[in-house]
Amino acid sequence: MNKISLQGIIFDKKSSFLRGPRLAPPLIRKAYHSTSANYFAENGHEILPTIWNDKGDFNIDDYFQIEHITTKNISDKTPLITLGGDHSITYPLLKAHRKKYGPIDILHIDAHSDLYDNFEGDRYSHACPFARIMEDQLTNRLVQIGIRTLSKHQQDQADKFGVEIIQMKDFDKNTLPVFKNPIYLSLDIDGLDPAFAPGVSHHEPGGLSTRDVLHIIQNINTSIIGADIVEYNPTRDRDDMTAMVCAKLLKEIAAKMLSKI
Ligand code: MN
Ligand code: MN
Repeated sequence: MNKISLQGIIFDKKSSFLRGPRLAPPLIRKAYHSTSANYFAENGHEILPTIWNDKGDFNIDDYFQIEHITTKNISDKTPLITLGGDHSITYPLLKAHRKKYGPIDILHIDAHSDLYDNFEGDRYSHACPFARIMEDQLTNRLVQIGIRTLSKHQQDQADKFGVEIIQMKDFDKNTLPVFKNPIYLSLDIDGLDPAFAPGVSHHEPGGLSTRDVLHIIQNINTSIIGADIVEYNPTRDRDDMTAMVCAKLLKEIAAKMLSKI
């Protein structure tokens, strides 16, 4: 067993509006283990606790530790799923994955492009990871889905870096992007509509349904070598409903990874 690695990154110091995502990893694990649901994903894979090569949750003091920890945790042959944490962690996560895997494409689901050159003076803010990723050429291709907050600056950044943005207003579940390289999936929970996932710092109405996100994951056409679930903020949740959404997405990502191994 032990087919998929799992790590939690306890870190939210790069959040711009509210803290809280540091509390997420143990609560996503708890929802995943809840006896209110079974371990089956929709493709028939049973995502039992024994499939995890569980590295544990890591308390991060220094942002620059994340790459080091992740490099160690992907040294096995199994793909890694990371539970965040705010979205700033995706830049160091990608540094580690790119070194190991070479050419990869990124599928990024989010209400926000996170392409700011800097946010309130911080180039490592959770509003900036994809600017850093593109500058460092850590991906062959970046496709963003669910975006509904595109500013002029971020549109300029997207044009400069060649980022493909499927804005929420144009989203059509029947025409999903087709990838050539293995995928890194970065899943910001605020990409979902706050009606489905209220436990996020930035409520941005008009987003994806849980079913839309499941459909996107289930229809990825290449293998997934790594993924993150970020920006779940338990302090904003209602009856743990967002924790349960995160746990469901965790199972579905794992099931998709297993179907391609
Ligand atoms: Mn984000
Ligand atoms: Mn976001």
